[in-house]
Amino acid sequence: MKVLVAVKRVVDFNVKIRVRSDGSGVDTSGVKMSMNPYDEIALEEAVRLVEAGIASEIIAVSIGPQGCKDTLRTALAIGASRAIHIVMDEMANPLEPLSVAKVLKAISERERPELILLGKQAIDDDANQTAQMVAALLGWGQGTFASNLEIKDGTATVVREVDGGLETLKLKLPCVISTDLRLNEPRYASLPNIMKAKRKPFETIALEDLGIDTRPRLTVLSTDEPDIRPVGKIVNSVQDLVHKLKTEAKVI
Ligand code: AMP
Repeated sequence: MKVLVAVKRVVDFNVKIRVRSDGSGVDTSGVKMSMNPYDEIALEEAVRLVEAGIASEIIAVSIGPQGCKDTLRTALAIGASRAIHIVMDEMANPLEPLSVAKVLKAISERERPELILLGKQAIDDDANQTAQMVAALLGWGQGTFASNLEIKDGTATVVREVDGGLETLKLKLPCVISTDLRLNEPRYASLPNIMKAKRKPFETIALEDLGIDTRPRLTVLSTDEPDIRPVGKIVNSVQDLVHKLKTEAKVI
């Protein structure tokens, strides 16, 4: 079974985000970039499926500028069998989930995977749309926010984290799964695997060559940094707290 894993290059989760001075978006110049954390979980799940003898090949796909090559090399070092980089200039053509979904559909029509694994959301746009859109475009079933996945006899049993509990779904393969935090704990790439990754197949495709309409449908009007939270106050007693809540915060 082939598994396609979508890995996005995003600002590293430890970095404090800076907004560009003109408010047009997040400033990524000179900023540490990494694989989207939910995509690390998707990749880890795919590697575990290979280790369990259920999957035979993992194709990691990333869509974006040249820097995505590093993200894909990391994916290869963690266990992807080969990588496909769809190169595009994100400054000239900001990518929306619908465009990413169209690209993933085109790649999966070529590669014919039985499973597409994605993160439940990219931590930069927090859109949480791509997996659902790919499934809809392909006409496949979808199991989103997976916290457990079992593949057996041509079906995927997915436990989903939903409001108020867990929902278990049974889907026919091929299907699309998006990963939640508790699905697994991703591994780090070992040094020998980083070296081996250099010899794994790596394909680069120009976005234009796919002939897909990726013109933006959305216009970002502005991007603002969150308000700075006032520093907290330490109170000496419960009475002092109640007094401040009454007289300063005026919440009681
Ligand atoms: P989003 O819908 O933007 O929150 O992204 C959900 C998931 O879609 C991510 O966790 C990735 O698995 C995948 N994805 C989104 N954008 C890209 C991209 N440019 N390249 C590869 N995968 C992506």
